[in-house]
Amino acid sequence: MAEVYPIRLYGDPILRKRARPVEDFSIIPELAENMFETMFEARGVGLAAPQIGLSLRLFVAAQYREEEEEGEELKSRVEELYVFVNPVIKFQEGEEAGLEGCLSIPGLYSDEVPRGQRLRVEYQDEHGLPRVLEAEGYLARVIQHEYDHLNGVLFFQRLPPSLREEFLTEHREALTEMQRKAREYLKREKAKEP
Ligand code: ZN
Repeated sequence: MAEVYPIRLYGDPILRKRARPVEDFSIIPELAENMFETMFEARGVGLAAPQIGLSLRLFVAAQYREEEEEGEELKSRVEELYVFVNPVIKFQEGEEAGLEGCLSIPGLYSDEVPRGQRLRVEYQDEHGLPRVLEAEGYLARVIQHEYDHLNGVLFFQRLPPSLREEFLTEHREALTEMQRKAREYLKREKAKEP
């Protein structure tokens, strides 16, 4: 049975750090499995390792079927699952503003986040095998969002300066509350350490 991890919230310093390359692949298949489970549970389309407290260059993403039946589990709508280890975006073109949210910034969205429309990403799969994927549209957006997490960048930082200010001002209270929860979580975790 896969494990569901707690998701780190805005304010947690790990979300602002550049993650380290994955060298030991022995833990990756199980880790990826648990990250998928965590992502489904949170009804997300992608999840990066720093979001579960691991500073590793790894993220998972899913493509879902559009139609949703009443009460249907998200998992049963999966069309494709991806595990990206040590990804590098090699080529990117076109620019499009679009809607984004983040599991680490729950409930807050912007529909003005600029992203490339098409990209090519080189990466390793969960077993360390080299892979290349060309993506466009929504999947390309998800990849860029998750890739940013590996470099400590959050989606609102991609907004043009005036919109970024607006986002931060409009959501100041919610963001402050997340920072408080993030600090509390870290304090609790620290208290658990022997
Ligand atoms: Zn995110």
